[in-house]
Amino acid sequence: MTVESKLQEWLVAIYRSGSASLSLRRPQFIIDWEPTSVRLPEQNTAETSETMSDLQTHAAAITAQFSEHLEIDEQDVKERLETVVDEYRIPPEEARRTVRNQYLEEADLDDDAVTTSGNEMVGVGTIETDESWIDVTAKVVELWEPQSEAIAQVGLLGDESGRTKFVSFETSDLPAIDEGEVYRFENVVTDEYQGNYSVKLNRTTDIERLDESIEVGDDTTTVQGALVDIQSGSGLIKRCPEDDCTRVLQNGRCSEHGSVDGEFDLRIKAVLDNGETITEVICNRERTEELTGITLKKAKQMAKDALDTTVVAEEMSEELLGSYYAVSGPELGRYVLADSIEPLGEPTETESVLIEARSI
Ligand SMILES: [Zn+2]
Repeated sequence: MTVESKLQEWLVAIYRSGSASLSLRRPQFIIDWEPTSVRLPEQNTAETSETMSDLQTHAAAITAQFSEHLEIDEQDVKERLETVVDEYRIPPEEARRTVRNQYLEEADLDDDAVTTSGNEMVGVGTIETDESWIDVTAKVVELWEPQSEAIAQVGLLGDESGRTKFVSFETSDLPAIDEGEVYRFENVVTDEYQGNYSVKLNRTTDIERLDESIEVGDDTTTVQGALVDIQSGSGLIKRCPEDDCTRVLQNGRCSEHGSVDGEFDLRIKAVLDNGETITEVICNRERTEELTGITLKKAKQMAKDALDTTVVAEEMSEELLGSYYAVSGPELGRYVLADSIEPLGEPTETESVLIEARSI
């Protein structure tokens, strides 16, 4: 648990107790804050007006939920939400849960007396908001070996609408889920990183195994294998700046628009080998930065220092070649466009021997 979340838990405990004496009850709404990846600063600036309209929506929802049980005024609900958001700097969705819990206590009601979770059931392939509390019914399509001790399980969930990555943390202390099984997950929170959506299971997540099967939509494919080659056109590249062109320049020339002043970009065209087949994978700038830790800014500096743009691809090759990855994303022709690329553990001995045998 981070210092920040500890502090938040403490503050909210004080807040909930309504006095200086601390509630001994552990607040049930704090999610695990371990980020799956580092956010860029601009992604953290919440739009104030957006937050305000969120709070209005939540206030209306809470008022509707409790109107049968309490004398409840929407303006009062909204003020409580604002207090929680302003003073404890927690997201509106979480403030909703906090305030909802307050009203549950005041009405002396159990959580499931006032709608089950209060969340919307969402198709995992349709998730397109950050920090939303949702319910999903999904099949565990795949589990990966976690790369961090803080992570209990990581993998892909799928339903008819598609697939999404999920993470659960050790601190959440949840029951383990099994590959191929279908579960209903209540109270998961969505996460967005550079345009990629995932769900985080957390301490409040309710997991129920269902005796049913789900046909998982094939909007994306997942491939695994050793990264055996990085093709030319990878690293620091220049693209044509003409509207809707974006072709990669060859010697400063676009095949369509001729000689142009290109715009720098990062890309990796990689080859994954699973021992049986090879797959070509394209990582855009975001995935490339995520994977290599080399940002576009850093790449430009590297090229400037070396007076040579190829140093970027060279360093990326050194870092990535021979490592194992799971890549998920849509197929486009012979390529898989990486929506996510996750490092895997070491290859099994047989696989690495096969790869080695072929490379001789
Ligand atoms: Zn062009």
